[in-house]
Order: sequence, then structure tokens, then C-alpha cells
Amino acid sequence: MEGNPGMIDVQNVSKVYEMPGESLRVLDGINFRVGKGETASVVGPSGSGKTTLLNLLGALDRPTEGRIVIGERDIAALSEEEAAAFRNRSLGFVFQHHHLLPQCTLLENVLLPRLAGGWEESEVATTERAEALLEEVGLQDRLGHFPYQLSGGERLRTALARALVNEPNLILADEPTGSLDEETTEVVADFLVQLNEEKGVTLIVVTHNPALAKRMQNYYELRSGKLEKR
Ligand code: ADP
Ligand code: MG
Repeated sequence: MEGNPGMIDVQNVSKVYEMPGESLRVLDGINFRVGKGETASVVGPSGSGKTTLLNLLGALDRPTEGRIVIGERDIAALSEEEAAAFRNRSLGFVFQHHHLLPQCTLLENVLLPRLAGGWEESEVATTERAEALLEEVGLQDRLGHFPYQLSGGERLRTALARALVNEPNLILADEPTGSLDEETTEVVADFLVQLNEEKGVTLIVVTHNPALAKRMQNYYELRSGKLEKR
């Protein structure tokens, strides 16, 4: 792309959910750009479309109208297979409820992205990195523990380690600190900011929490289907 290739370029994106007898226009002509290595947050009331927007950015769903260019690719135009490969290689997801598998240990949970296939690295190498990531988030003594044995903050830190295991250049986080107290939220915000500064990871965080939102370089609000810069 010419000039300044933004890492993420959302162009006039709308999302309409079609249901029997009803259609819901959740996103209504949204535009925004996040440069490579930048951070952005999106706040907005419950039901305003924050998760919808992240799902589009993560190629988990497709826009009804508009284009989403990430790197140099229009991700809405990817086939299912290409979208899966894009998610697997370039993206780290941190979900609202963390989605750790209860029957798997922390280490196994962090290794889960391997199971999605197309993983070229040896299992030993990935395992070593998973262990190092769990150490980075302070869980080195808990590798064999199960999610139910953890606090909310520790579960989130496990989810962060899992999001990083494929060494993504983009992290999408959906209300990562939703159920955490202020102090733990601060620790997680520090971790995310440090990750961006040290590894140059582009970061998009959707959150209810203004303290977390303000730690990101760009701060947007989603309301009535429109995205406004704050
Ligand atoms: P937020 O994450 O900001 O709380 P969501 O993106 O989850 O908001 O949802 C935005 C709106 O879209 C809500 O009214 C929700 O009920 C609706 N919605 C979300 N997903 C679907 C779907 N798959 N089908 C129909 N409506 C949906
Ligand atoms: Mg949501």
C-alpha cells in the first residue's frame, strides 16, 4: 500500500445482524486506523457492538459493508481457511471470559493454539516458550494447576500467555479486566503497555474500564453504531 501502511484500516464498516422479522444495525459506517505498533481502546455501553467489532477485526465474522485491511490484506475477502491461518499466525485473542479449558492444566491451555493446526514449530520449542510466557506473567509455579485453582487475575494472566504463544503482531482483547479489582487491573494494564513497548505488538482493547482505556494511545467510544475519537 502506498504511503503509510496502517496496520489496521477499517473503512466504512457496517454490521447488520439479520434475524427473523428484524434487522439490527450494530455498526454503522465505522472508520478508524491503528498504525503498526500502536495501541487503541474502544469503550462503549453494553450492547454497543464492541465484541462485534473485535470479531470483525479478528476475522471471526464478516462485515455487512466496508473493508477491513490488516497489514496489506482485506480480511473480509479471506476464505475460511485463509482466515483461520491469519488468526493462527498473526493474532492473539484475549476473550472476555478467558475461555480456559477446565480439564486442561495452565501449560496445556497456553499450548492450545497449536491444536488449531498449521503449526510448524516443534512441540518442544513451543512448550519452552509457553513455560517462559507463564513465567513472564508470574505463574511459573503453577504450570500443572487447573483453572479452577486460580484467582480471576491469574486466569487472565494465563489467557494473556496463551494469546502470546504464537508471537502475534496484533492482540485483540475483549474486556480483559471485566471482573477484576482495581489493583489487578493496573497490573494487567502495565503488562499490556509493556508488551506493546518492548515487542511492538499492536494492541486493541475493548473495555468498560476508563482507567485501562486511558492507558492506550488512542481512545475511541462506540455509541449508536458510530465510533468517535475521544
Ligand atoms: P458489546 O460487546 O458492546 O456488549 P455486542 O457486540 O456483543 O456488544 O452486541 C451488540 C448488539 O448486537 C447487541 O444488541 C447484541 O444483542 C447484538 N448481537 C450480537 N451478536 C449477535 C448475533 N450473532 N445475532 C444477533 N444479534 C447479535
Ligand atoms: Mg462484549
